[in-house]
Amino acid sequence: MLCPLCNPQNENIIFQNDFLRVILVDEIPGYIRIITQKHIKEFSDLSDGEACEIMLLAKKIEKILINTLHPDKVNIAMLANLVPHLHIHIIPRFKNDPWWPGATFCEKQREFDYPVTQSQIQNLINSIKELNGK
Ligand SMILES: [Zn+2]
Repeated sequence: MLCPLCNPQNENIIFQNDFLRVILVDEIPGYIRIITQKHIKEFSDLSDGEACEIMLLAKKIEKILINTLHPDKVNIAMLANLVPHLHIHIIPRFKNDPWWPGATFCEKQREFDYPVTQSQIQNLINSIKELNGK
């Protein structure tokens, strides 16, 4: 099986370097994914430096999400059960969103109009771009 994270189709890349890339996922407004460029099965397979770098980046992205989209909650998840390719989901959550209060990996419970504008998404993208190299 071709790894979908090594062979991405139409990814919306915000920035990338040798270690990782940050993408905007269409499925949910403001849904961000940090993907390692190489195959890494478990979080503990990262070096200490890489583990610090990726978690600090997730923390900074969460803060940007909170400041730009004002979600009720942010969910951060690291699963990679189907492919041995470490990635972190950073998902803005709103009360009564289609999966609330369950995980977004569960079945949708309802329809929902996200209180998020295109200009907020653009601000989110611009602020995350500024993290590159910091
Ligand atoms: Zn892969």
